[in-house]
Amino acid sequence: MNQDCDHPLQPGPLHETTQSVTAMAAILDVLRQGERFLVCSHSRPDGDAVGSILATGMLLEQMGKRADLVTADRVPSIYRGLPGVDAIRTALRVHGPYDAVILLECDGLERAKLRGLEPFFHVNIDHHATGRDFAHVNWIDRHAASVGEMVYRLVQFANGSVTPEMATCLYTTILTDTGGFCYGGTRASTFALAQRLTEAGADPVRIAQDIYFSVATSKLLILGEALSNLTREGRVAWLWVTHHDMVRTCAAEEDCEGIVNYAICITGVEVAVFLRELPEKQIRLSLRSKGRVNVSAIAARLGGGGHENAAGVTLEGPIPRALDQILAQLRPSVEDANAGKHAPDQDNAAFAWENREPGTGLEIADE
Ligand code: 5GP
Ligand code: MN
Repeated sequence: MNQDCDHPLQPGPLHETTQSVTAMAAILDVLRQGERFLVCSHSRPDGDAVGSILATGMLLEQMGKRADLVTADRVPSIYRGLPGVDAIRTALRVHGPYDAVILLECDGLERAKLRGLEPFFHVNIDHHATGRDFAHVNWIDRHAASVGEMVYRLVQFANGSVTPEMATCLYTTILTDTGGFCYGGTRASTFALAQRLTEAGADPVRIAQDIYFSVATSKLLILGEALSNLTREGRVAWLWVTHHDMVRTCAAEEDCEGIVNYAICITGVEVAVFLRELPEKQIRLSLRSKGRVNVSAIAARLGGGGHENAAGVTLEGPIPRALDQILAQLRPSVEDANAGKHAPDQDNAAFAWENREPGTGLEIADE
């Protein structure tokens, strides 16, 4: 069966659900009526946050509106080559006045980590499993590959033009949010969108090189620290870095993006956790799942959120305490997910790994 049959991004004319059309019409009304807008996203912005902020700014510019583009943390260096990126300001407080604040990828005002948002009219555009109707106008599409995809659809709906610059920003959002077209949620429509954006002027090779082949030395050094404590217990794997590791390797926060993938990529591992000690001693956790365990539900239980396959949460330190807390949630979920499944080669996985012989290249076969 074609799982994309109802999806708006099949080649050909766009087919939006009534719910999306209603939400886009309401958003467009707000954009048409206002003059001055704030466009923001979550703190520690990722590719989807940066790309969708920029594309939304471009749409507003086409409409003859003023837009302040703001993030609480600086734009990671791999995204600093994106068209128009210099317009994004880093700030901890905003002042306005704004006719509306557009929050991309946030499940609440607090996720933006910007003070001064409260008095304004709020528009929420999100695709997270843990997305909530917190704003005055809300558009949450959990099937969208990225918020950038939703911005693309909004641009189509508004009869805006997808310039090469906008296409570059939007392509970046889907490339990064699907982990290079790898994560669950990558569908035929994701490639249809990638095709449209490529036709509109996005250069897939250049964008991929800017993102995946422009790695800072500090990123590899901090990865080495994390890999040196990689631990596996059956279908769960974890690794961490301390604040001291970060200082020693001169690593920036953005250097830690993707480290969790080295744990989830192990054969037979279903759930992975990366823990990073913050300067103030709290612990940032990145959770990844291959699909059997819903990590957004687990993160939400502890005060975080995200997608079913990729989520995050901040816990109290120290690292062993945060690790115990998350493992207490993950172990039963992994067991539940595997209940009834027979995977004999996994039964001794942790034992086999812990007792491996140097030079054996031991691998634990997947079922
Ligand atoms: P990452 O592990 O890459 O930081 O985050 C994975 C996904 O979970 C992203 O989509 C991110 O927006 C979401 N996420 C991470 N941390 C939090 C959090 O503390 N709260 C919420 N609501 N979402 C989070
Ligand atoms: Mn996203």
